[in-house]
Order: sequence, then structure tokens, then C-alpha cells
Amino acid sequence: MKEYKIKPLLTGWFHMNWGLIMSPLAAGYVADLPVFMFLIEGEDGEKIIVDGSYVHDHVPKWIFGPKPRTPDLEVPEVLKRNGVDPKEIDTVIVTHLHHDHTGYLHLFENASFYVQEVEMVESYFPMGYQAVGCCQEDWIDLVPRFKLVNGDFKLRDGIELVFAPGHTAGHQAVAVNTSRGRAIIFGDAAYMYAGLAKRFPAKFAEVVALGGVAGQKVDLEDPEVQATIAKVWGSRYGGYFGPAVLNPGEIMRSLAKLDMMADVVIPGHDPELVRMKVLPDDYDLE
Ligand SMILES: [Zn+2]
Repeated sequence: MKEYKIKPLLTGWFHMNWGLIMSPLAAGYVADLPVFMFLIEGEDGEKIIVDGSYVHDHVPKWIFGPKPRTPDLEVPEVLKRNGVDPKEIDTVIVTHLHHDHTGYLHLFENASFYVQEVEMVESYFPMGYQAVGCCQEDWIDLVPRFKLVNGDFKLRDGIELVFAPGHTAGHQAVAVNTSRGRAIIFGDAAYMYAGLAKRFPAKFAEVVALGGVAGQKVDLEDPEVQATIAKVWGSRYGGYFGPAVLNPGEIMRSLAKLDMMADVVIPGHDPELVRMKVLPDDYDLE
């Protein structure tokens, strides 16, 4: 099977409440959250892009707190620095149509965009507060170049789209064959390593300790805290914490599916990915 490498491309930062990320166990923690695009590179030089970052003015600032970009984080500059000419890209995978994944899709003038059909339909007229995460203006003109997918889909030798709804109605992850087995780009099914608590217990503890009510640090040695966490972990799909945006039950099922598939875990917004420049080479968490 063909092998690939994956580069997380840092393209900006949100400053937001991590309760939206690890709800409700991090409800009191406000911090910076990196926004990535991903570059998948084949051993033959093939390049595939995953997601499109955000246009600063298309994001509701009072919820997501996008920070003004320094010049080195501007998307065209990031692509250039990584040897990507957007006009030469023919394949872009869109995990979902939230505004921090669609902002610069228009740069890829000659690309087809792989999107789940239900994601397109539901994002055009979103349900309830899903609407705050959508910017139709980013992508509506690109619909003629959408390749609409329904469910799991084999894109190439070594690359598969994996249906993983819950964060949005038609969210998908990307399974990539690498020298260390199957790497899964989780998209926003998991923002953080902490979202797979049983697999990355230290990352989970780090986030939860900072996430007490009203910003009070949580004492993880406290028997009451331990009993509560044990109760959660002992529950059905306990130990999976996805961003509770649309359907928490679906997120847990999607996380369990992706966790079982993944030899290498690549969440959507974890600060660890700023450090790990090339995956799986720099992957050192397990
Ligand atoms: Zn999202």
C-alpha cells in the first residue's frame, strides 16, 4: 500500500472556552487553540490538502476569539513555505463545513472538494446553534466542484474517508497509510488528545485539572473527583469526550470507531501538533 506523511500546518489561533471542546469537564478553562490545515504528502510527491482554515472576519469574535494573524500564519504564506502551489492541488478533503475549515478553500482553483453530502445540505441551512459555526459565503460558489460522498469512501490507495458524524451532521475523518500504520486525521471529532481520555490519560488530566467551575483548579487527587471520573469512565462509551456541538452520542460512537482504527491519532486542534511537524515521524505520545 502507498505510504504518506502528514504535516499539520498552523494557520492561526482561537482564544476560547475549552468547555466547548471537552464539555462539561473543562467548562471553566479559557485558552488558546491552534487552527490547522493538513498537508498529506505521498512518497511520490503527491500532495493532498485537508481543510481550509478561516477568514478572520468570517468568525464570530465574541465566541471563538480569533487572534489577529501574524504574517507567518497567513494561509498563502504557510502554503508557500511548505512547498504548496494551491493551483497545482487537485484534491482537497473537507472534514466538515465549519468556518475554521472552509475559509481559504477558494485558493484551490483547480481542485475538487470531497465533502459528505449530508454535511453540505445541513450546513446550508444549519440546525439551531450550529449556525454560529457556519459561513456559507466561504464555499457556496465552490459547490459545482464538490465531490459528494455518502459514508465511508476509499479515495486512493492508502487514503480513506471515514464517516464520523456528531460534531456536525456529516463530519468525516481521514485515514492515511503511513510507515507506522494507519494515521487518522480526526478533524473535529476530537479537538484534543484529551478527548480520548483512556488512551491519553495524562493529556486528559492536564485539561480537566484546569477546567473547574469558575476557573478553580480541580484537585485530581480529591476522592470525590476520582469517584466522578470513575463513574463517567465506567459508563457506555465513557472516556470519550468530543466537542459537544450537535450530537454528543454520535460523537462518542464516532470517537470509539476512529480510536479502534487509529495507530496514530491526529486530533483537530491540539497544541501538541504545533510541535509535531511531520507525522508519523515526530509522533511521540504513545
Ligand atoms: Zn468544527
